[in-house]
Amino acid sequence: MSCSTFKRMKTHVNLILALMALCVSGIIGLQLFWNYQNYTSALNTFQYDINQAMTKAVDLERAQRHQQLIRHVKHWLADTSFIRITCDIQSRDSNTVFHINDRYPKFAGSSGLSFGLTNFKRKLSQITPEAKKLVINHFAETRLLKDLQEGFIYYYTQRLGDSLTKAYTNSHLRMKALDTLYRQQLASKGIHSSFRFQTDAGSPTGYVTEPVNAALARPYKQEMVQARLTRPDSYLLSTMKWAVMTTLLLATICLVCFGYTAKVLLSQHKLTVLKDDFINNMTHELNTPLASIKITAEALKSFHYSPDVQKEYLDIISYQTEKLTELTTQILTANRHLVATKEDWQPVDLNPLIHQAIDALWVQSRNQQATVTFHSAAEPALIYGQAANLLTAFTNIIDNALKYSSSVPHLRITLIVDFKWAEIVFADNGIGIPEAYRNKLFDPFFRVPQGNVHTIKGYGLGLSYVRQSVGQHRGLVTVEANQPCGSLFRIKLPLV
Ligand code: ADP
Repeated sequence: MSCSTFKRMKTHVNLILALMALCVSGIIGLQLFWNYQNYTSALNTFQYDINQAMTKAVDLERAQRHQQLIRHVKHWLADTSFIRITCDIQSRDSNTVFHINDRYPKFAGSSGLSFGLTNFKRKLSQITPEAKKLVINHFAETRLLKDLQEGFIYYYTQRLGDSLTKAYTNSHLRMKALDTLYRQQLASKGIHSSFRFQTDAGSPTGYVTEPVNAALARPYKQEMVQARLTRPDSYLLSTMKWAVMTTLLLATICLVCFGYTAKVLLSQHKLTVLKDDFINNMTHELNTPLASIKITAEALKSFHYSPDVQKEYLDIISYQTEKLTELTTQILTANRHLVATKEDWQPVDLNPLIHQAIDALWVQSRNQQATVTFHSAAEPALIYGQAANLLTAFTNIIDNALKYSSSVPHLRITLIVDFKWAEIVFADNGIGIPEAYRNKLFDPFFRVPQGNVHTIKGYGLGLSYVRQSVGQHRGLVTVEANQPCGSLFRIKLPLV
């Protein structure tokens, strides 16, 4: 991939990520805005509900006091020493007419109340107990109640009027009764906030109801009351819980999807870069021996060389072919052992296996005058696994320790057998691995950047093989810095 194509691709990826981030923040922002609108509308509904409940509670409390007055009046009407109820037959249409008068009128000649009842068909010239009861009930519950509701006191008789006015003026709002009624009204609207009443105009801030006139003689008299409520948290929670939960769910889904897509996109991008690196590397590695073979073969075809020179040329061809074979084998090995079948699994002793890995790289170690020491475990380190697969993994690590070294390589391998685990430590004195790259080290095709040109040949597949192999054996591989220099690879494998 050319540098400009790579840059363009990177710009596209960044652009897509930025647009996605914009979309996700837009969706979350809209959700938040919608919730805020919901919140303010819930607060308005709350204010409306507490006002309604207050008006209703005051009305009910006043109705209770009306009933109290009605009971008094009924009692007075039934008291013959106070009121006289009589009846006679009206001569015009022969209907019964009832009369309510004071027993002892305050002023001489003062008249009382006379009325007929349309549904009372009997003709009575003298009041009976039943008729008296009917008259009292009718008067108190129909006429008087209507007057009280309108806020008036009529003097149907002077003494009745006096007594009623006195009781009426002494009747005041009962806070306890209002408290119970208001609580019931609030509960019927799903509001359970605590509250207190105030009769003076307190501060208008907070959750305060409109003042309501609780006086019996309203609107002519005023007895204002209002309620102050605590924060309506539980009310808001119950009205908004589904909206908030839906928002949280949607926001989480959006964020998870965005995070996952961004991760996939970035890793795909990274993989493309790594693959391109690998292909570039491979092309170079394949081209050099192929060009050499081609030139040598052409020379052999075109000229008649002496048998000695011919042998020399054929040796070159054979050497380059061997290099090519080595190269393809190396790439193929990266996966071959990992697809081994279940039958290859057997108990493996790690002590001889590590010796085998060291021996496999003996020539290379000798050429580099490297020292490879192995501190084996005193007892057999038996694990259940694939010997060939693990051998390749160990060889890859030892090979790297020899390759990535700026001086004479010293590699110390230690095998420790713990209660349930076998731990193999490979400590080299090589060039080391910067901390920033350690978590990417085991990714396929990853190579620690070394400017534009890698002086040490490789394809970034060795350590990815190690991680896959160790993982298949339910083990763990980690890397850290060795002291005073170099790298330290730690492989932990479960014992049988
Ligand atoms: P390769 O060696 O073929 O590049 P590996 O997967 O074996 O691939 O290693 C990945 C990268 O890790 C190497 O390119 C190298 O930069 C770094 N590396 C691995 N082992 C060592 C080591 N012992 N010391 C320093 N760097 C190392």
